[in-house]
Amino acid sequence: MIKSSKNSSNILRVAVMVPLYRLFDYKVAEDFDRDSLRPGVRLRVPFGGGSKVGVLLEVCSESEWALEKLKVVEEVLDTEPVLSVDDLDVLVWVSRYYHYPIGEVVSYALPVLLRQGKQVRFKKDLLYRLTNLGEDVSSSVLARSPRQKALFSFIKQEEGRITEAAVRSWHKDGKKFIAELMAKGYVELYDLPVIRSKVSAVGSSDTQLPLTIEQRQAVDRVNDSLDAYNAFLLEGITGSGKTEVYMRVIDSVISQGRQVLVLLPEISLTPQIESRFRQRFGIRIAVSHSSLTDAQRCQSWLSVQQGHASVLLGTRSALFHSIPRLGLIIVDEEHDSSFKQQERLRFSARDMALLKAKKGNIPIILGSATPSLESLSNVANGRFQKLSLTQRIGAAVLPKVKLLDIRNQRLEDGLSGQLMDAISKTVARDEQVILFLNRRGFSPALMCHACGWVARCKHCDVNLVVHEKAGLLRCHHCDYQHKKIKQCGRCGCVELVSLGVGTERVERALVAVFGRNQVIRIDRDSVRHRGDLDLALQAIHSGQAKVILGTQMLSKGHHFENVTLVGIIDIDSGLFSVDYHAPEKLAQLIIQVSGRAGRSHKKGLVLLQTRQPEHLLLRTLIEKGFAAFAAASLLERKVAGLPPFSFQALFRVNAMSESLAVAFLQQVQSLLLPHVESGVQVLGPVPAPIVRRAQRFHYQLLIQAEQRKQLHQLLDFLVKDVGLIKIARKVRWSIDVDPVDLY
Ligand code: ADP
Ligand code: ZN
Ligand code: ZN
Repeated sequence: MIKSSKNSSNILRVAVMVPLYRLFDYKVAEDFDRDSLRPGVRLRVPFGGGSKVGVLLEVCSESEWALEKLKVVEEVLDTEPVLSVDDLDVLVWVSRYYHYPIGEVVSYALPVLLRQGKQVRFKKDLLYRLTNLGEDVSSSVLARSPRQKALFSFIKQEEGRITEAAVRSWHKDGKKFIAELMAKGYVELYDLPVIRSKVSAVGSSDTQLPLTIEQRQAVDRVNDSLDAYNAFLLEGITGSGKTEVYMRVIDSVISQGRQVLVLLPEISLTPQIESRFRQRFGIRIAVSHSSLTDAQRCQSWLSVQQGHASVLLGTRSALFHSIPRLGLIIVDEEHDSSFKQQERLRFSARDMALLKAKKGNIPIILGSATPSLESLSNVANGRFQKLSLTQRIGAAVLPKVKLLDIRNQRLEDGLSGQLMDAISKTVARDEQVILFLNRRGFSPALMCHACGWVARCKHCDVNLVVHEKAGLLRCHHCDYQHKKIKQCGRCGCVELVSLGVGTERVERALVAVFGRNQVIRIDRDSVRHRGDLDLALQAIHSGQAKVILGTQMLSKGHHFENVTLVGIIDIDSGLFSVDYHAPEKLAQLIIQVSGRAGRSHKKGLVLLQTRQPEHLLLRTLIEKGFAAFAAASLLERKVAGLPPFSFQALFRVNAMSESLAVAFLQQVQSLLLPHVESGVQVLGPVPAPIVRRAQRFHYQLLIQAEQRKQLHQLLDFLVKDVGLIKIARKVRWSIDVDPVDLY
């Protein structure tokens, strides 16, 4: 029952930072200064015996609760709103679309310190640069301390635009190394004036690149439509100069005094692009990603929100920053699944970027060499405009891709004789090789030679991965690890075999042939800090490292001139996934990894080892290219009625017992049944691909609808009534709208 209060507008509708699917109403004292109560200010409110921080969404005159029941706001924390009305609008929309509690969504939009109700000011950060003495010496004077040397080169390369924060995220002991460099007189601190919107042309070293005809056309088309919502898909093969297109358009937008949001899939790519942008624009650039400390993140957030930084560069969470003068959004590598958050608020930064652009009436560019099927279908149905870059820059051409049939072949640590030969020849020519294997560790399983027993995780339905150097068996799905065992867990036999290969094992084999110095491994175990990656990248750019081995981390963005051979060691398991997204991801991966070869004047070759040389996906991709593959896949999806031709949500549950998980989903299903319209299907309950993870049992329901609206109506019912199921309190559940994998 709605009880309206006759009092004028003094009811505050607040998004309180708690995991509940509703807003809360509060009131203020009669004599309260109402002017400070603008939507977007933070409030401290009484909540369940304690107090919580919330954000004011709306001031209104009616509440469904009696006025005397409403509690009084304890404190208004801000004089100016921290989130704008437009920001709040997007957040409310996100909360509805992903069926996620509004208070939690709002908390995503604020850095931790602000979430906690703290008062923080934007501090102008001092910067480091080389002293005159530093400019005069060569980095070789620091040969005895490689970290100092690497940091010195980093500062030199950035031309004096290194913040303290950058030094700290470069390496956890970065401050120590910089102190040592300062003590030697090579580096000093200085102050940069806050540059607001006007571009001052500091080191504009590469502004003068003449654009190719295709680049020119792309830049002109975006520049002609800067004052309204327009979605562009920039489809450009690897090495075709997409970044240059971005920079030209960014230039136009920041010259108008507006701000730009650039979303990147991976932290490891931000330093490179950051330094390219800094050199080009000479302005304050804010970065946002998960390896910043709370204080750094807060400063970066404030620098954008208060307009000191004109460009924000970040991974998916940067989407939630408040950007008051936003004039353009760029999503680079838009197909990348890391734009989809896989826990808690399972949002897609790409999809929400489109929404943000639409609501802000500004252009958005989605760039990729291997666009997602969704985006290609949006081009086909006229929602996106396509811009194409079909040529590599200069003399570079796309590499030749060859399948290496490894059936019946003897592999040494995962490498066939042919691949090994090709590697040796490339190294002998003083060129570089990239080897790709998406599996960390030494080997994915440890098996008893006598009885076939395999070491398994105690808490999950998976094999333990051998990490030889660390002397450990590790679970890649939970935190469990165990000292490497010497005897079979069943029969006691001491002959244990490491089955299969991971990067650590391939590395060992390569080091045995080419020596420690010429081989470098890049994966999550070997690269933990930005400094580690910089050291690795330096070894690659200097030409010292000849064979570069890595996981996913290596597949994106990096530009290595002298790489002429790419070897793909093993992707066969991806050919047999039950998830309908798998072929698309695999094709994208193969093209992206291949794109690392022959990016300069030397011709590139890609060798892909497989036991499935006749597989249709591989054949189409290699003989006809990604576009043909994508067209065929879209057709298959259409025939099968799969997204983007229908709409899905995955309702996941996990519980301490299998029967509890299944019983819960059965009850959910019967709860939904009366609301299921024609064109809607609720499939399941089915076990997740790995049922037991971290001692909990995982099951799911797949909901599929012909219309997006039908899907959301059903999810609304679900969220509203799921609490009626008694055992709901004993399980953990989540909703994943537009899931990108079915795990
Ligand atoms: P992509 O992002 O499409 O893979 P990049 O933007 O990294 O490609 O460009 C590849 C290389 O070509 C870079 O080294 C870049 O500086 C260079 N480049 C881009 N545009 C031009 C141009 N118009 N003229 C000369 N070099 C260019
Ligand atoms: Zn045994
Ligand atoms: Zn485990």
